[in-house]
Amino acid sequence: TDFKSDKQPTWCPGCGDFGTMNGMMKALAETGNDPDNTFVVAGIGCSGKIGTYMHSYALHGVHGRALPVGTGVKMARPDIEVMVAGGDGDGYSIGAGHFVHAVRRNVDMTYVVMDNRIYGLTKGQASPTSRSDFETSTTPEGPKQPPVNPLALALASGASFIAQSFSSDALRHQEIIQEAIEHDGFGFVNVFSPCVTFNDVDTYDYFRDSLVDLQEEEDHDPDDYEAAKEVILDSEKEYQGVMYKNEDSVPYHEKHGVTEDMSDIPDGAPEDAMDLVREFY
Ligand code: SF4
Repeated sequence: TDFKSDKQPTWCPGCGDFGTMNGMMKALAETGNDPDNTFVVAGIGCSGKIGTYMHSYALHGVHGRALPVGTGVKMARPDIEVMVAGGDGDGYSIGAGHFVHAVRRNVDMTYVVMDNRIYGLTKGQASPTSRSDFETSTTPEGPKQPPVNPLALALASGASFIAQSFSSDALRHQEIIQEAIEHDGFGFVNVFSPCVTFNDVDTYDYFRDSLVDLQEEEDHDPDDYEAAKEVILDSEKEYQGVMYKNEDSVPYHEKHGVTEDMSDIPDGAPEDAMDLVREFY
């Protein structure tokens, strides 16, 4: 697609991040976006390289701080498409505080977390979503604490859109990201994106065999909060699909009258800095 840059990814062959990124690029194109109106903010980690591999405006943020940067971009330019991407280590550990507050602000952007349940870039340490018995070099007997449930964290923080996909189920993954982009508000998608080098538990085969697609559960209504809660807190099964979607969601910039008129910048803002911003946009 137009969203592919000319940089060759340095991800390990077979890494789930390839599929995650392909789905993101296709979903952006399908929803009528192009590189000129799209801003990708990435975190740190293997997943964080995505801003280089996608052709759009992009910023490689600080570890765990991609969401505040995305929020700033969207507040300055509500008319452009903002997509924030990161990993489970980046987003649910050092970035967990930002995650909660971005969710409750309901800024109109899409947050894609490439969840491989391990720190890949630093060579295989337990992450917030690793299983409690997952053995790594730094946790030889496992982390001995239950993993974070990012979907439950989002629900408890007042999310308006919660979904989960699997990078290898290309079409479903793309559809789910599309729905997140089209949602009026904060579209959160946790994407199972296997690390083929350091995680031999949460593998392609594991997700292929165990994931239940909510599309096949005919009675699941994403607009039903109680139904969403049931699916998200189900400790027996893992699901893909849109778990929760508040159809009455009003994004932050609409609720609070943030406009795209740059002349609204308050008096006293450092003039040279603002000139830079204007030039950039
Ligand atoms: Fe992907 Fe894991 Fe390799 Fe990182 S270390 S590029 S997450 S396979």
